[in-house]
Amino acid sequence: MDVELLTIGAFAKAARLSPKALRLYDELGLLPPARVDPVTGYRRYAPQQVERARLVAWLRRLGMPLARIRHVCSLDAGAAAGEVRAFWARAEAETAARRDLAAFLVDHLTRKDPAMSPTIPALGMRYAAASDTGLVRESNQDTAYAGSRLLAVADGFGDEGAPASAAAVESLRRLESGGVPADGLLNVLADAVEEAGRAVHDAVGSGSAPQHAGTTLTAMLWTGSQLGLVHIGDSRVYRLRDGELFQITHDHTVVQSMVDEGRITPEEAASHPQRSLLVRALGRGADATAEMRLQDARPGDRYLLCSDGLSTVVPGDEIRRVLAAPGEPGAAVRELVALANGSGGPDNVSCVVADVVPGA
Ligand code: MG
Repeated sequence: MDVELLTIGAFAKAARLSPKALRLYDELGLLPPARVDPVTGYRRYAPQQVERARLVAWLRRLGMPLARIRHVCSLDAGAAAGEVRAFWARAEAETAARRDLAAFLVDHLTRKDPAMSPTIPALGMRYAAASDTGLVRESNQDTAYAGSRLLAVADGFGDEGAPASAAAVESLRRLESGGVPADGLLNVLADAVEEAGRAVHDAVGSGSAPQHAGTTLTAMLWTGSQLGLVHIGDSRVYRLRDGELFQITHDHTVVQSMVDEGRITPEEAASHPQRSLLVRALGRGADATAEMRLQDARPGDRYLLCSDGLSTVVPGDEIRRVLAAPGEPGAAVRELVALANGSGGPDNVSCVVADVVPGA
């Protein structure tokens, strides 16, 4: 039977890999030889192993971790293609998050450079917040807040959802007082989120199932010329600029991850039974990694922060229509809450609307 097997040298040549790489793949359990001579220890390979050897080499070049390569190699071609697609979608999403952080840092450092910072015209904010139980739930576990510096929405879940969302927002409210130096915004926000995490941890500790309680937290801090954003969970921020509505935040949900990986379509996600299952949240044992962003404010910008009680039932073009209509932020939040309740009000609904206006 040895006649059919190739020596490691011949196999390496056929697979266009080095014998060293093949020995490594063997040690890692990715490509065991068809036969190892018990006396000499020589490795011998079957010709049909060439294809797998090439696949392993390509996947390593792609940067796929070894355990995942092993998994891909165990699949049939169709499923393997799906795995590679999902791996790459994840890699691109992570790159996008790093790109945002890099942009944040470039902006932050540029503003510290006296030669680069232009004179910024004085801007102010007008704002309003509303939170409503909706028509189905017995209590309101959302918390919404709008003040001269801070805008925030938190959507609590579990037995202690209400105290969790209240604790998260309350903890950020200390940012309302005291100056926020524009050049320290990133650090200020990072510290504030950590503190909010501890506050939520304490708030859910007294409940019967603290591991299943927590909250989302989506907040913006106004510096006078910019808005620093922190975001964890599936509450959202939209910006209306020049009549166009743009969703700034990315939902941290299982379903959104499936969309990102191309496993389901956005349409399937909208009606998915588990669409509210979070992959990030503030709470015990949850991944509380916050997305952070710096938004340049322009006069005329209108921001909306909302819980999923709005975005799940009110379509984007309806939200855009309400926000684009002339009127005070207070009128907009009332109309948005009414629209959610007009669609059955299945969940607690919270909205914060803030307008960037000329003059401090
Ligand atoms: Mg909700």
